[in-house]
Amino acid sequence: MKITLTSSNAHKAEELAELFKNSTLDIVPAPKKIEVIEDGKTFQENAYKKAEAYYQEFKTPTLADDSGLVIPARTDILGVQSARYAPEFDDYQQKNQALLKDLGDLTDRAAYFVCYFCFYLKPEEIYFFEGRVHGEIATEARGDQGFGYDPVFLPDGLEGKSLAEVPEWKMINSHRAKAAKEAEKFFQNY
Ligand code: IMP
Repeated sequence: MKITLTSSNAHKAEELAELFKNSTLDIVPAPKKIEVIEDGKTFQENAYKKAEAYYQEFKTPTLADDSGLVIPARTDILGVQSARYAPEFDDYQQKNQALLKDLGDLTDRAAYFVCYFCFYLKPEEIYFFEGRVHGEIATEARGDQGFGYDPVFLPDGLEGKSLAEVPEWKMINSHRAKAAKEAEKFFQNY
C-alpha cells in the first residue's frame, strides 16, 4: 500500500523510510508541504490534524507522526509543544543548552519520548499507533548522531549513554521504532 508521508522533517522521514523498509507499506514523501497548525492538546490530535490535512489535499492514504519529549516533573515545557520550545534559538545545540539551564539541578529528571502515528487511509478508516522510550534528562549534552533532543536524553539501561551516541540502538528501540513495529504488525494482516 502506498502511503504519503506528511512530515517535512528530513531526519524523521529518513528514520521512517528505514523503519518501514521491509514492510508491506510503501512510504513516499508528500509532493508538497501543507501548512498545518499544530494546536492540538495531545500528540494524537496533532498527528490526526496533519494526516487529515494531507489526505484532503492529495486524496491518498497518509501517515503523520507527532512526537515529542515529556518531562513529567516539568509539564510546563516540551510535551506536545516540544517543537516550539525555546523559539529564540534555531538550532538544537542551543535549545538543548537552554533546556539544561531551564532544568538546573532538578533531581527528578525522568523523561520519555513519545510518538503517535496516524494512518489516515480514508475518512472512515483511521488508525493510531503509539510508542515510547523511557529515560532521563542528562546534565550535559553528548553525542552527535540523531537529531533534536537526542544529545540530552539518556535511555534507561544504557549506562548513561545519550540517544545521540547509539544510532543502531535508536533504530530498534526508539519511540518511533516501537510505533512502527505496532503499525507493521497490524498492516501485515490488513
Ligand atoms: P513534531 O515534528 O511536531 O512531531 O515535533 C517533534 C519535536 O520533538 C521536535 O522538537 C523534535 O526535535 C523532537 N523529537 C521528536 N522525535 C525525536 C527524536 O527521536 N529525537 C530527538 N528529538 C525528537
